[in-house]
Amino acid sequence: MYSYRDTRAEISLDAIYHNAAAFKACASPSCRLMAVVKADGYGHGAAAAAAAAMEAGADYLGVAFLDEALQLREAGIGLPILVLGYTPPRSTEAAVRSGVALTVFTGEALDCIAACAQRLQREAAVHLKIDTGMSRLGVTEADEALALARKAASIPGLRLEGVFTHFADADAPDPSYTERQFAAFTGIVERLRREGLSVPIAHCCNSAAALRFPQMHLDMIRIGISLYGLLPAPDANAAGLELKQAFRLKTAVASLKPVAAGQPVGYGCTYRPDRDIRVAAIPIGYADGLPRSLSNRGCVLIRGGQAPIIGRICMDQTMVDVTGLPDVRVGDEVTVYGGDPRDGAGASIDEVAALAGTINYEIVCAVAKRVPRVYR
Ligand code: PLP
Repeated sequence: MYSYRDTRAEISLDAIYHNAAAFKACASPSCRLMAVVKADGYGHGAAAAAAAAMEAGADYLGVAFLDEALQLREAGIGLPILVLGYTPPRSTEAAVRSGVALTVFTGEALDCIAACAQRLQREAAVHLKIDTGMSRLGVTEADEALALARKAASIPGLRLEGVFTHFADADAPDPSYTERQFAAFTGIVERLRREGLSVPIAHCCNSAAALRFPQMHLDMIRIGISLYGLLPAPDANAAGLELKQAFRLKTAVASLKPVAAGQPVGYGCTYRPDRDIRVAAIPIGYADGLPRSLSNRGCVLIRGGQAPIIGRICMDQTMVDVTGLPDVRVGDEVTVYGGDPRDGAGASIDEVAALAGTINYEIVCAVAKRVPRVYR
């Protein structure tokens, strides 16, 4: 739908393509690349991100739940898709019908998927989830994993395509917890293979592990945050990949006015300038996903200069101090955050995340649906 708003998220599909290609190039030729496009492609738009990653050679897509997979299918994306999260029994038939692979960690789920596959006369791919230390989803015992894998392999209509685990601490400076998880995981995979079970795709690496531990890549790496050019931690890029950030949040100046010393700005009168200032109102607020915790803290960039956020961020609007930027006019483009550091310091996604007391993942995922995504 056409948007009349000045507020928009500019997404560089070239950057996503470039990042996917960089991960493909850094992994061994036999290692698959899963582009993780859950949460609407970390806010970038799942179908567009998936298409860009696919063009760059991604082999698989990862989503959190079935609806996200079906939206990709509706958008015409035919690449294999794995639902990384839990799929309730009532959703199983729709998954099998659309050829979406499911994560399993119970015998009941295997029975349910097998029954659907037989009813629909289709083969269903499953990936067995092993919990090696995240304490989230997955079987914890090697014997349990073996029993489930045997069961999956023995049921007609089911294909045990993969076995995977998820690292809890791959971005931490100390690699020991990840190394322990990796050893536990590979121990189980080796045991399954020794027992004659076919495990075509063993996978465990997220962005942090893929960048830091190439020896852990195995048969597939699952890349989320760094597909979008962001790092899971500032020093995570041990591989030295040249990543390009894909997301930039923009708007335009809606109004300019002088505000006299002592005159409050915004709800709660939390800001009172100690001198006469010039205030710009910009049409973006917390309902767009701009964290309200940046009130009186963050800044935006206008004409290459920093304009501090003053007063409380409103639902749809924010006030910024442009006293130091005398050339600013109504209609001027505002970079709220993101993009090229050449835009100037102060509004990178990582800086915004730090100020808001969160992580870059949450900043991009939080950008609301009502903010149009514009692709470049
Ligand atoms: N694999 C699983 C199971 C996940 O849940 C996620 C994201 O949380 C990823 C891979 C991708 O992680 P990252 O965005 O850190 O690359």
